[in-house]
Amino acid sequence: MNYEAVIGLEIHCELKTKTKIFCGCETGFGAEQNTHVCPVCLGLPGVLPTINKRVVEFGIKAGLATNCTINQYSKFDRKNYYYPDLPKNWQTSQYDLPIAEHGWVDIDTESGKKRIRLTRIHMEEDAGKLVHSGTNIKDSATSNVDYNRTGVPLLEIVSEPDLSSAEEARAYMEKIKAIMEYIDVSNCRMEEGNLRADINVSLRPEGSKELGTRTEMKNINSFKSLEDAINYEIERQTEVLEDGGHIVQETRTWDPERGITLSMRSKENAHDYRYMPEPDLPPIVTTAEQIEAFRKELPELPDARRERLQQEFGLSDYDAGIITSTRAMAEYFDAMVSEGADAKAAANWMMGDLSKNLNAEGKEIQDSPVDAKRLAQMIALIDKGTISSKIAKTVFKEMWASDASPEQIVKDKGLVQITDTKEIEGVVDAVIAANPKAVEEYKAGKKKAIGALVGQVMKQTKGKANPQMVNQLLASKLDN
Ligand code: ADP
Ligand code: ZN
Ligand code: MG
Repeated sequence: MNYEAVIGLEIHCELKTKTKIFCGCETGFGAEQNTHVCPVCLGLPGVLPTINKRVVEFGIKAGLATNCTINQYSKFDRKNYYYPDLPKNWQTSQYDLPIAEHGWVDIDTESGKKRIRLTRIHMEEDAGKLVHSGTNIKDSATSNVDYNRTGVPLLEIVSEPDLSSAEEARAYMEKIKAIMEYIDVSNCRMEEGNLRADINVSLRPEGSKELGTRTEMKNINSFKSLEDAINYEIERQTEVLEDGGHIVQETRTWDPERGITLSMRSKENAHDYRYMPEPDLPPIVTTAEQIEAFRKELPELPDARRERLQQEFGLSDYDAGIITSTRAMAEYFDAMVSEGADAKAAANWMMGDLSKNLNAEGKEIQDSPVDAKRLAQMIALIDKGTISSKIAKTVFKEMWASDASPEQIVKDKGLVQITDTKEIEGVVDAVIAANPKAVEEYKAGKKKAIGALVGQVMKQTKGKANPQMVNQLLASKLDN
């Protein structure tokens, strides 16, 4: 039997508010343990929470940006469980009346666009962190509890089980990340845990409508782990089913070092959490006018921007998709264009040499040693004819390694393009004289042979001869 995978994601997105969700403590990452705490987030007896209104604003904006319906009457609930990083023994979250519901986002798949439905977006507080002296709790002599993260605001974005592969899950998570970055509600730094996903995976016979039994993997915080964990889990479940076994509904943990998932505990159900309305916080009541005001504050979103780049600059759908796929990419592109760079050239350099170099060094575009301004200046030198596109690659490499302007590099390294006809002609004549075989082939009708001669001229001028001029001069001499 052939099985198909069914995947749903619960994405936790840490919000970039200055202070926590229910108290005035700072949210900053990386502070000394237990320095961003107060009686409220430590859950001491007798304290009362107050809602940070920015969190509600961000929740509504996230909902609007993902085509959700905003609930004008929304409330908080207590999700009860015990763990040392949760000082109150309940997490203040939302249950039956989340801030936003019934949304969708579109993703690109191999077979075109696919709409992924969002079940809901709710607001909640983050838990603290256990800091082990060893690599995990079992091999540690001591473990500290750090409450700095306790009460940091989160949005939990829950998808319907509409995803069918690891690639789709990745594309979906990338889309959510891009939207949250565009609307500026989260830093989305996965390595700092700003964005993490719980992955639910099940299998069912191909074509079947019923859902199979799922397993859940929590706190996945990189795209690589997301894909690897899903692919591993699909394979593991396939083997179990093919051997005649059945899937146990459970929470599993992804071990990136070993590349396997391990059973952690049997899956808890909603009723295990004894959800109950939060008595210490009033319901959140929003008016249609307030919601519209937030909608007006939203920036242009990735899909709209992608459309615009195609219409305004004639970029292909693919290129526009990549350039708008992160806020930083889109801003880099905009900066180049406003520095006067031709849009297509800007896109080509971003997707070509720039991406290649960034990938090779594992860098993000916001950390690029070559900023948009210098790259735009370099494109201007190509447009002016000062350098050829080929030499530009050398200039780009030099810019990558130093802070010098492209003009300076061209001057220092003597990279100015040779456009003097006499000078090029001299080399062309010499190359024709030295390569009788290629000349003969060309004259006998093998027009491609000219390539070798162009190559020779470029080599002898160290790539500096204007390639169009070389082509023209060679052709005119050979055709005579
Ligand atoms: P919880 O995991 O908190 O119990 P839900 O039951 O609402 O919450 O499901 C959470 C996620 O699991 C959602 O993203 C949903 O799409 C996904 N999901 C639910 N059932 C399945 C299934 N059979 N296979 C794959 N994903 C599923
Ligand atoms: Zn506090
Ligand atoms: Mg879950």
